[in-house]
Amino acid sequence: MTSGEWHFETLAVAAGRDERAGAPLNVPPTFASTFRDGGEYTYGRWGNPIWSAFESAVGLLEGGDVIAFASGQAATAAIIEGLPIGATVLLPADAYLGTRSFLADLASRGRVRTRLVDMTDSAAAEAGLAGADLLWIETPTNPHLGIVDLARLVASASTAGIPSVVDNTFATPLLQRPLDHGATAAVHSATKYLGGHSDLLMGAVATRDHDLFEQLRKRRTLHGAIPGSMEAFLALRGLRTLPVRLERAQRTAQVLAERLLNHPRVDRVHYPGLPADPGHELAGRQMNGYGAMISFVVDDATSADRLAASFRLIVSGTSLGGVETTVDRRNRWPGEEHVAPGLLRLSVGLEHGDDLWNDIESGLDGLDRA
Ligand SMILES: *Cc1c(COP(=O)(O)O)cnc(C)c1O
Repeated sequence: MTSGEWHFETLAVAAGRDERAGAPLNVPPTFASTFRDGGEYTYGRWGNPIWSAFESAVGLLEGGDVIAFASGQAATAAIIEGLPIGATVLLPADAYLGTRSFLADLASRGRVRTRLVDMTDSAAAEAGLAGADLLWIETPTNPHLGIVDLARLVASASTAGIPSVVDNTFATPLLQRPLDHGATAAVHSATKYLGGHSDLLMGAVATRDHDLFEQLRKRRTLHGAIPGSMEAFLALRGLRTLPVRLERAQRTAQVLAERLLNHPRVDRVHYPGLPADPGHELAGRQMNGYGAMISFVVDDATSADRLAASFRLIVSGTSLGGVETTVDRRNRWPGEEHVAPGLLRLSVGLEHGDDLWNDIESGLDGLDRA
């Protein structure tokens, strides 16, 4: 894929640089709460050169204008905050737990109403649009990696005059660009693939809607949900290698998913790259690759916990999108009761695929002996 003149691989490396003579090759973090009057920057809650560099790089990849936030949740909150009191949000039942928890908290105080649907069922999602004020899409979904028909649902929402927001954290702009499908905004937890090294939290919103952009920028300043300078620097440094990281990770994920599918102790594998996966055909049309997240199911919570504990290489822990492969039994979290107790979500990293498979296979084989 390309954005304008250059390919994504090139943009990831070249975007957001300071091109003035004598400038550092990469924009360094600026540790300043205040700036001398008369320049572009004034106070550290309003702007910082390293945010601008990060924003322009992500903006080129997403094809929109970007506002960076302190975290993915802060980005989500800034969007939801713009809804009128009592607004109805339609979202996937399988959306990120933090998004569901945030909306549930607001709903419990009468600030919004939520409507959860299986959004991989386009007809059900369209039926849910009636009377909604915002369509919140996440694809692939979390943790079942279902694929939502972006083009169709964004168009249906738009026909009904309803804005649509796509959480693009799992796919990244390399695999799908929601704004090209007409979505009002794309949201990121840059904590995950964009940063890519499990060492920071950050968020971002991309949009082509100028009014929304200005509102979100104002809200960031007023809420103070701003990224740290060091975080923005590290996130931009991580972004430079996103194309190579993602390409390798998803190649390994494909191999692991196929091997998991053929292992007798595995009941189910959720990965859109598998030909038999319900989202395979749609993902093939809509995405530029199948991503590096896999979920698979073993018989119960005990087996899944025993398996995760047996890994020597794969790290047990929540979160995703880092260079290291991590595993998370999602059903252990309150709010994830709809997930099978034996489901393990794997964020495939950059270790050698055979080493990862050896870890998984010996753990699975060991279940028989326990
Ligand atoms: C992690 C995550 C978020 C929230 O991001 P934070 O950076 O943790 O605040 C939102 N959406 C998805 C899909 C995520 O994985």
